[in-house]
Amino acid sequence: MSIAENVAAVRERIERAAQGRRVLLIAASKMNDASRVREAVAAGVDACGENRVQELVEKNAAGAYTGAPLHFIGHLQKNKIKYLVGVADLIESVDSEELLTLIDKRAGKLGVTQDVLLEVNIGREEAKSGLAPEDVIKTVEFAAPLGHVRVRGLMAIPPVAASPDDSRPYFAAMRELFIDIGAKKYDNTSMDFLSMGMSGDFEAAIAEGANMVRVGSAIFGARDYSHPAGR
Ligand SMILES: *Cc1c(COP(=O)(O)O)cnc(C)c1O
Repeated sequence: MSIAENVAAVRERIERAAQGRRVLLIAASKMNDASRVREAVAAGVDACGENRVQELVEKNAAGAYTGAPLHFIGHLQKNKIKYLVGVADLIESVDSEELLTLIDKRAGKLGVTQDVLLEVNIGREEAKSGLAPEDVIKTVEFAAPLGHVRVRGLMAIPPVAASPDDSRPYFAAMRELFIDIGAKKYDNTSMDFLSMGMSGDFEAAIAEGANMVRVGSAIFGARDYSHPAGR
């Protein structure tokens, strides 16, 4: 199957699960070179999502993402912010007040407003990044007065599960948080995007309210972790 055929098949599955709701398809393109990413863009994905800053910078320079918005979806480090602000249309993985402050500063310097999602560690896993669920509201409140960063929603990666159904309670908890925060109408915050669901579980995520899914292997095929560039 070609990348275009895979994108079409994923789209069909999304449409069935979404039952009329609009769901954005983000191609999680880690470890796929610029030409493969361009194929996905040509096939009409709504955005590309990249995990590693260096890979994003290199592939961006090679024109991989031309024609599609670019999201950063990987673990965010302070010292990499300068490569992302004003470059990524959406930084999906912000999980601290400190990162918000640094993004706001950098965006102010560039004269732009940076859209971000707050990443939530919805499974409360020790080794995972993301805000603790009970800290999300106070982080939204922290972001509200910042002039150059705008919170557009939430992102989560639930614990690895044997079956997508096992992830549904986590997806449902995210939806509740998303709705609660949206109802509070904070300044500078619009709960537009609930980003959850990957190749193995995007239909379950959509059924629980996701309107943005990040799909890698179902579009590009299995990643080859034996490749030297791979990680
Ligand atoms: C790789 C990745 C995905 C996509 O994973 P697949 O299982 O290949 O669909 C989604 N989100 C993030 C943050 C990722 O790193």
